[in-house]
Amino acid sequence: MRARDQIAVAAVLAAATYFALRHVAEGKSEAAVGGGVFRPDAHHRDESEALDRLRAQLEKMGDPGLAQRLDRLRASGELWIAPGLGPDRWAVFVTALGLSRRIYVRREALLDPVAHLYRAPRPDIPAEYKHAHAWTSLAGALRHEVAHFDGVREEAPAYDAEIEWYEARRRSGFLDTLSAEERRAWEWGIESAILSARKARERAG
Ligand SMILES: [Zn+2]
Repeated sequence: MRARDQIAVAAVLAAATYFALRHVAEGKSEAAVGGGVFRPDAHHRDESEALDRLRAQLEKMGDPGLAQRLDRLRASGELWIAPGLGPDRWAVFVTALGLSRRIYVRREALLDPVAHLYRAPRPDIPAEYKHAHAWTSLAGALRHEVAHFDGVREEAPAYDAEIEWYEARRRSGFLDTLSAEERRAWEWGIESAILSARKARERAG
């Protein structure tokens, strides 16, 4: 066998091993979030439309950069929908064997952020306040998972990125675009999201 053929054989074997391993890694990743996962493509209209609403909301909140980042992750097959992800998570970054790297969004959290956040009815909180709190938290959770995707391994710095994102919403001029009543709801929503993230950061050590 000539040297050139040996190299070609080795390359084919390496590719086969790579795809087999990547398949295993993807299987592990999907199992970790409860299975049944899918990409938010044209075949999944509800989820695609929900991501479009999220993009519009992020732009309104003064962060078109995060909206574009999520669009790119969606296009590159690194943003997935996880119907089986537990109710305690908005989203999660999963990496397996260094071959599969994905952000999974909990399906219900994306389709109905208010229902996800307020599992127990809270008639004492006005609908507008719940809406602001839920959308702020969904967006902040994705900012957190993007930090992990970008290489942040520890929880504390990922929460710091999330909290900084909430605080940047207050400075962005977004609140100035709202009526006085809406502004109160969103200020409360942002403050509530910051308090939850601070508590979670403490729990994570
Ligand atoms: Zn985290």
